[in-house]
Amino acid sequence: MNSFMKKIFIASKNKGKIEEIRSYLAGFGIEIFSLLDSHELPEVEETGATFEENAHLKAKAIFDIVKIPVLADDSGLETDSLGGSPGIYSARFSGEGATDERNNLKLLKELENVPDDKRTARFICVLALYDGINSRYFEGTCEGKIAFASAGTNGFGYDPLFIPAGYDQTFGELGSTVKTRISHRAKALRSLKKFLDLEKSM
Ligand code: IMP
Repeated sequence: MNSFMKKIFIASKNKGKIEEIRSYLAGFGIEIFSLLDSHELPEVEETGATFEENAHLKAKAIFDIVKIPVLADDSGLETDSLGGSPGIYSARFSGEGATDERNNLKLLKELENVPDDKRTARFICVLALYDGINSRYFEGTCEGKIAFASAGTNGFGYDPLFIPAGYDQTFGELGSTVKTRISHRAKALRSLKKFLDLEKSM
């Protein structure tokens, strides 16, 4: 691994995401920072049309300020019966001042009359690792369906509503042991880890 990768800055203020990323990158001897460490750094506006574009936008904007490699996560939930919505708008699904709770209530309301077999959905995560020249992308998806009511308090975002395929409880109920094995972010982070391992041996 080149010495430049000894530090990584996570371009996020989302505690849930940061914790999941930190736990995956532990043991690499990488010093990890995030937007939570500084009040002066801006949260970057997500003006892209895809997860890739938004991840790159966030990574590049923060790199231009901190000048160390930046990892940005753009992720979201796609539901089939809503034509892929909320997708890249997952964080702002319920509009101005959106919170996880309001987003979840809105999703439940929109799926009110949708039967179990039509509630299929997937989480998508795209990580962009920007080194000042290029972004390298690492992706993961997790298939599942949306519950009829919120359940469990683990995780963040839509976790209390998302039942991963092969389970009958939500990520909110299943907790981090299952989530770190099968989630969209876990899959993307596994590819990133492989890449960092390769770098380490060079
Ligand atoms: P963004 O990547 O900052 O645009 O926000 C992603 C949004 O997608 C989050 O605010 C959550 O609402 C949702 N999301 C992404 N990953 C997860 C997850 O692992 N669990 C639950 N919700 C997630």
